[in-house]
Parts: sequence; structure tokens; C-alpha cells
Amino acid sequence: MADKLYPTEPLKCWNKAKEIRESYYKDYTTAKEKGGIRWAGGAWSFDAIPAGLGRDVYSLTSEPYGASIAFNKEFSLKCLEAAEKAGYSRDLCSYMRNYWGSIILDQYLWGGPFPKPDFLWQDHICCSHAKWYQVVSELEGGIPHYCIDVSVGPYHEVNENRLSYIVGQMHDGIEWLEKVTGRKYNDELLIEAVNDECRSTSTWAEICVLNKNVPAPLDEKTMYSLYVLGTLKKHAREVADFYEELRDEVKDRVARGIAAVANERCRVMSDTQPPWGFLKVFRYLETYGCVSVGSLYTFGLIGMWEVKEDGTWGPRTTPQQKGISIKSRNEALRTLADWNLSKPEWQHFYHPGYKSDMMIRIAREWKLDGVMLHYNRGCEGLSLGIAENRIAIQKAGFPVMIFEGNMGDEREFDEARTMTRIDTFMETLGIKRTG
Ligand code: SF4
Repeated sequence: MADKLYPTEPLKCWNKAKEIRESYYKDYTTAKEKGGIRWAGGAWSFDAIPAGLGRDVYSLTSEPYGASIAFNKEFSLKCLEAAEKAGYSRDLCSYMRNYWGSIILDQYLWGGPFPKPDFLWQDHICCSHAKWYQVVSELEGGIPHYCIDVSVGPYHEVNENRLSYIVGQMHDGIEWLEKVTGRKYNDELLIEAVNDECRSTSTWAEICVLNKNVPAPLDEKTMYSLYVLGTLKKHAREVADFYEELRDEVKDRVARGIAAVANERCRVMSDTQPPWGFLKVFRYLETYGCVSVGSLYTFGLIGMWEVKEDGTWGPRTTPQQKGISIKSRNEALRTLADWNLSKPEWQHFYHPGYKSDMMIRIAREWKLDGVMLHYNRGCEGLSLGIAENRIAIQKAGFPVMIFEGNMGDEREFDEARTMTRIDTFMETLGIKRTG
């Protein structure tokens, strides 16, 4: 009997996602022509805070920029070699090396010289974070740099002292922003941004929950192009509104049985950033009818989660949904700190067991047949303890395939070997190629 084929169709809001991403980079590049402010910092930085400086404040977040460079293998190699020539070690974060190389070459990925930011606004949990921007500041001749230390432990250990430690740095940071920009800070804009950040990151989790359905309405390769908006400006109303529109469309796909992969018969998840120059790995999986439904990385890098009454994972309830109205700067900052400290991807910096627990939960709730682990040499932060995760996931009863690579340095990814590993893994799972 022929395998069942599910109906499939492109996402209606796909082009809108592309437009938001394109205008993000364009706005940053042309900010000065409009008298605006440019800042740079990590995708995890508290971007809702600089939003209080005005509506003409534009950011360049570092990891998505490093990933975009990695996608362009030729330019990436030039950047990596420029960073190495300048003396930066090849085993450092590969996003960081791509980014530094782009500055050293003074070449922006989308043409022209690298657009210099007015200030650097970062937070620090991975050992690369503060150092990344210390070097950026030096390379650019001394850009003002502020970094918030968020390493106060896993969320279940957060107490008043730990929260106040972060909120205190945020208050100081606002004074610093006023000083370096000469602008008066607007608390109303901050409150608006905090509310929108909670809305966008909770809605992203809601979208990921819909992938528990069989067939999965989204595949991970598609999700990369959607979650990225939250890594660019998670505090923006435009992103929060877009995610609500996307959620409604994905709900409709579920109701109509629309699949991401028409021949779905095997479900896996990946882990950490993929090798961005080789996303065709995911299309290769589809030749087996295998869909990667996401990962802790795609779900929890920006998505905010909580355990629901029935014990399953679902979107974290926002302050607005709880009927809480934020009225002051201090309330906004406390909400923002508390919200971000529960980020899934921040928990496993403290112990691999936290990550294993979350991954096993996903494997069970999203009905997976196996797990693909990327031993990603490019990111020491998210790969920390990955071998221990492998053992824990296997003990929980899920077959695991590993492949070595690097999210941002194609010299460390062996495409043919990875495809062969996939063939072997599919054989182990008893899945034959259909495509
Ligand atoms: S090593 Fe990973 S977590 Fe650390 S800065 Fe680089 S991409 Fe981020």
C-alpha cells in the first residue's frame, strides 16, 4: 500500500516575515539618514530597554548577523580568515569570529562599509558575551559599552536578592544610556516594549506547541526563518503582532490537517544552531519522510515556557494575560528581568541535567522517534554538556544520532559524512527512503 500523503501548502505570511527581516537590516543601515540612533548587542540583550530612548532607535543583533554571514560561505570564509589573521583563535564562537571579521574587513554583508553603532548594549551569560563587545568596541576605536551580568543561577533558584542584582544594573544602564546618547528616557516606551516582548516570546512558544500535532504543521528549517524575528527585536510590536498572525495561520493548518512534510512518518528534533551553510540536511531528511519538528534551541532561544496544570509544557502566561498592568520603570524592569531569567536556554548554563530534562520532555510531548544532536564546535555556550545530554536522552529510551560540525565555520562540517550518518540513523529507526 502506498504511504499516506498529507496535504501541504506554503505559509501565507511567509513574505511578511521576509519583509520584517529585510526592513530590520535596512533601518539599521539608514538610521543616521533619519537622525536615529544605532546600537549593537546580542540577541539575548534586554532590547526593550534602549526602546525607551525613542522610536528611531535601531539595533543590529550579533548572533543573527553572524549566522547570516555563515549562510554566505564565501564571505564567511573571508571574515573568519580576517579574524584569524588578526590573532583571534579558531576555537572561539564562530558567530563572533564572523562578526569581528566583518568589522576588520570593514565590509557589511549587505554591501558598503560596516555601519558603526553609537553604543553597545549587551548582557552576559555565555563566556563570550561581554568579550565579544569589548573587542567590537576596541576594533571600532572605543564605542561606549554596557553589559549586564545575568548569571544569577537557574530560574527555580531566583530570589529577591538575585532579581534585584539584575534590576539594579538595568536602572544604572538607563542612566548610562541617557548619558551616552544625550536623550531623555521615556518610561512609557519601555513599558510598551516590555509588554510586547512578553507577548511575542509567549506567542512563539504557543506556535511551537502546535507542532505537537501529527502531522507537524511546521518543520524546523521553516521555523528558523520565523523565530529569527524574535532574535532581531523581540520587544517590537510589529514582531508580537506578526507572531499572533502566524499562530492563527498555524492553528488553521492544524485544523485542516496541513503538513510541513507531506510524507511525514518519522519525527525528530535537532539541537543547538544548525550548520547554517548546510540547511539542505533538513531537506535530505524529508526524502525519508522525516520531519524535524524543532528543538530546544528553536523553541527556547526566545520562546518563554511554563509547566501547565496538566503537567505539559506550554507558553508562559504574560503579565497582561494575568491582568497585571505595569505602571512604573521599576515594575517594567522587574518584569523584564524575571521574564528573561526563565528562558529555557539560560537554564542549562548551570547544569546539563536541566537541558536533558527539557529535551526529554520535548521528545515525549512532541512524539519523537529520535533525536539528532549537533556537536557544534562553534558554540561553546549551547553545546556545553551535550555528551551528557546524549546519555540522558538515550537512557530515556530515545535513539540519538550525533554529527559534528560548526554553525558558522563551514571548514568544520563534513557534509558527505553527515548524510551517511543520517542514512544509518534512518536504518536504525527502520525507515526507508521514499523520495
Ligand atoms: S558561543 Fe554560543 S551562546 Fe556563546 S555567544 Fe557564541 S553563539 Fe552565543
